[in-house]
Amino acid sequence: MNGSSLPAEDADTRYTTFTGWVDRPTDLTAPLDATISCDVAVIGGGLGGMATALRLAERGVDVVLLESDFCGYGASSRNAGQISAKPTGEPQILAKVNPQLLRDLVRFAGSSVQFAEDLIKQLGIECDYEAVGNVGAAVTKGQMRKALRDAQALSDAGATLQFGDQHELGLPDTFLGGLLTPAGGTMNPGMFTLGLRAALLESGVRVFEQSPAQSVDDIGSGATVTTPLGRVRAKKVVLANNAWAPELAITPQRLSRPVWVNMIETAPVERERIEATGWTSRSGLATKHNVMESYHVTPTNTIAVGVRRLQIGKNPISDRISDPVVVADLTDAFRARFPSLRDVPVTKTWGGWIAMTSSRAPVAGKASKNVYYAIGCNGHGLGQAPYLGSLLADRLTTDEIHPDIMPWWESENHFPRSLYLHNPVLRAAWLADRIGDRRAGR
Ligand SMILES: Cc1cc2nc3c(=O)[nH]c(=O)nc-3n(C[C@H](O)[C@H](O)[C@H](O)COP(=O)(O)OP(=O)(O)OC[C@H]3O[C@@H](n4cnc5c(N)ncnc54)[C@H](O)[C@@H]3O)c2cc1C
Repeated sequence: MNGSSLPAEDADTRYTTFTGWVDRPTDLTAPLDATISCDVAVIGGGLGGMATALRLAERGVDVVLLESDFCGYGASSRNAGQISAKPTGEPQILAKVNPQLLRDLVRFAGSSVQFAEDLIKQLGIECDYEAVGNVGAAVTKGQMRKALRDAQALSDAGATLQFGDQHELGLPDTFLGGLLTPAGGTMNPGMFTLGLRAALLESGVRVFEQSPAQSVDDIGSGATVTTPLGRVRAKKVVLANNAWAPELAITPQRLSRPVWVNMIETAPVERERIEATGWTSRSGLATKHNVMESYHVTPTNTIAVGVRRLQIGKNPISDRISDPVVVADLTDAFRARFPSLRDVPVTKTWGGWIAMTSSRAPVAGKASKNVYYAIGCNGHGLGQAPYLGSLLADRLTTDEIHPDIMPWWESENHFPRSLYLHNPVLRAAWLADRIGDRRAGR
């Protein structure tokens, strides 16, 4: 299981510290090197921070956005590119312990997909979006039973979905079936994020890349953000720095933990060979393991495969490349699910940091009188991070509070210790998955 089965051609896999979806932009904006003032300073230029800034600017607010590296440097351009209306978390457990939260999560996830689709249309972003939906796909009978129970809990909570077998859902023939969430689909998240960056740079927002916020001080009448060469005096500050949030002293304790997630991508495969596996729907796939495997077939017929192992890090976090052991594990997964494509080499690998919360739900609130946060869309932020950011922007500028932000609004800043965010727990989850696969001959 440690990748000793890798064929020789995988020695050519390209490891990158950024993403495999796009190249780094070359038109970085200059760092902040003065003291300036604004209404709202947004910290972090991922999908969340950029959507917050754009929405504020649309509402006539004078906004400054500070980004450590470049807008799109973080998880937003590195993810698996699957935008789903399936909510985060375990639906069966939530249905029992907090059915209202499950209903809120379902509504939020659905609205997030709609929001992202609207952004793509309104801004004319070319990002290879295909509205093919996503399937919570089962590779064992146990996973199939889980998918059925999840389907029941989710539809009781208001979700639109379809439970079906491999043929009905057009899945690869090593899958038994699963749960299709028709809203959403797949996209190139790097193109989506850099498309939003282009719109941001053309808006009235003052964007300073290469400008890490080193400290944020609430001074009662506003807040001051200090960067290596400058300072911003703002009436309000929004933290949208995702996995890096704990690095600023003003962030509430235990808000989130940074978790490293890996991706691999194969060489292009002939379309007919993909169809011959049974994957005719081209829907995004996420298995029903404890720690999912994700599969996304791109318009050039490469296959992007993700996750399977999660590794908790410690702040301050830094650039990394994928661990070759994890790359080998993801490659094993790909070859097990697509045995007829065993000869297809893995050409690229990369990873990214996400902010995981103990509730697995997004969080938004006030760190202090003038400092707000919208963070922690976990592994669902492709649609949810920009939507949450825009809802926070609305909350800062209007008296009306949108019902979609209420469930995530944390008025106490009380974040309990998590039971599952520990490396031994995640390793045990991975091991249980492999034992389950082996027992089922998968
Ligand atoms: C490998 C992987 C696969 C994933 N797959 C999916 C998927 O298929 N579907 C899905 O919905 N979600 C997925 N996700 C999750 C999703 O990508 C994230 O939830 C989402 O991108 C979070 O957006 P964000 O704007 O909050 O954070 P980010 O995109 O991480 O942006 C945060 C930004 O803040 C900047 N920053 C940090 N500290 C500072 C500072 N002090 N000063 C200034 N700037 C700072 C960073 O440089 C970064 O650009 C995946 C994530 C990963 C890593």
